[in-house]
Amino acid sequence: MASTICVSNPNPNVNPKSYPSRIRTPRRLLLFSPPPYSSSLAAPKSLRYAILGAGFAGLSVAWHLLQHCPKEFNLSIDIYDEVGIGGGASGVSGGLLHPYSPKVKLLWRGAECWKESLKLLSIAEAAVDSRVSSMVIQETDLKVDEFIIRRRGILRPAINLKNLDILNNNARECLASCRIEVINKDVAERLLPSICLPTDTAFYMPEAVNIHPPRYLQALFLACRNLIKEMSIQGFGQKELCLHRESITNLHELAGEYNAVIVCLGAKIDMLPELAGRLPLRTCRGVIAHLQLPFNLGENYPKDGPSILSDAWLAVHGCCDLRMGSTWEWKSRNYSPVVPAEEASMALEELIPKASVVYPSISNWTFVGARAGLRAMPPLTPLGSLPLLGCIDDYVGGNYSCKYWLFGGLGSRGLLYHAWLGKLMAQAVLACNEDLIPPELTSWKKIQP
Ligand SMILES: Cc1cc2nc3c(=O)[nH]c(=O)nc-3n(C[C@H](O)[C@H](O)[C@H](O)COP(=O)(O)OP(=O)(O)OC[C@H]3O[C@@H](n4cnc5c(N)ncnc54)[C@H](O)[C@@H]3O)c2cc1C
Repeated sequence: MASTICVSNPNPNVNPKSYPSRIRTPRRLLLFSPPPYSSSLAAPKSLRYAILGAGFAGLSVAWHLLQHCPKEFNLSIDIYDEVGIGGGASGVSGGLLHPYSPKVKLLWRGAECWKESLKLLSIAEAAVDSRVSSMVIQETDLKVDEFIIRRRGILRPAINLKNLDILNNNARECLASCRIEVINKDVAERLLPSICLPTDTAFYMPEAVNIHPPRYLQALFLACRNLIKEMSIQGFGQKELCLHRESITNLHELAGEYNAVIVCLGAKIDMLPELAGRLPLRTCRGVIAHLQLPFNLGENYPKDGPSILSDAWLAVHGCCDLRMGSTWEWKSRNYSPVVPAEEASMALEELIPKASVVYPSISNWTFVGARAGLRAMPPLTPLGSLPLLGCIDDYVGGNYSCKYWLFGGLGSRGLLYHAWLGKLMAQAVLACNEDLIPPELTSWKKIQP
């Protein structure tokens, strides 16, 4: 069922009728398309953007559009999501965040990605704590005392001797802001007494975090709403943010209404007729199991115990609560987060033996449910698997300039990429300048799907 949530900062100096709103005006009747602010001396005062998808990518773009749009401008953002906030892979993801590959190699532009992600996470966290939120927080599922970010580090045990040299070498190139400590069994056991290290070596990232993805996304949306309220208090131009629970079936239908449309549809991007089969993306379904420790067992996960990255990962949510992931079903077209009993049991059969290698006590935990998501996997390049960004007017057809933008292919590391790339995307859209995006992220256009 379609529904809409809006927040705006009505500026008494602005005549509301001069500001097109989706609620007041049927979409197809609007022909509101002024040029971008940076390319004209007679700068228009109003900008209107559509963001398709309310996952990590879409909400990051929304936040950064609000941040980087000139304060005196009127800005209206419509976010469309057929399910709602976190309806795709973001909402079910493991929520593990660090800037390294599985072999602890620093990822492409890992420093920027790490810094911006931590910043956005803190912004979202602060939104839930802030007094401004107290009214709107009641309209969300958020509770002030529930965790959004768990700052307990991540442990990456070395599973076999084969790769140990590579891991050791990679670890030397770590960031000062996300250190990798090479530790032995004794040190690891102080972090987690029941850990098992097959090679007596583990790589410990004390600053790495894991988040609660649905709460983080709700909190980030709340932060956007708070920002609009703050701008209202400071008397800037009118700002409006609407979340429409609505499915978008093609891009052309939005053409006349917006200055730009930013497509952040995750793995479902391929369902749009304008883009179907034209992007170099592969899909991969992953199942995550939710496990809890029965209270009477007495062997709780330590309060400060790290999450674990191994052939299966454990994202710890509390002393008796964790998520275990993940399976990799390539080429799946199954978008449903629902995991039938048979799929769940196959996932457990695969994941429990892998997790047991480093955390044998996993056998004491009880399965309480499973969820799944579909990753949009970009091509592997010499720099790694990089997301797909850029202007896609040529793909959509029609005589457009800087109208349609893609922010997709976040693969299995969307949480790491979403903040910095969301900021770059917002800046490129506002300036109508694709060159603000690093060429490594737009070079996918040269690849045949
Ligand atoms: C099992 C699993 C575990 C993962 N674990 C991690 C992890 O620990 N750390 C990490 O960094 N990354 C992880 N990832 C990857 C991460 O989840 C993705 O990279 C990220 O969620 C992609 O974000 P997105 O915003 O691009 O897409 P999505 O989160 O999929 O958002 C797309 C949104 O678009 C909406 N939508 C789709 N089609 C339409 C339409 N036609 N009309 C309107 N709305 C539509 C959907 O409802 C959805 O809300 C994991 C992924 C999976 C599957």
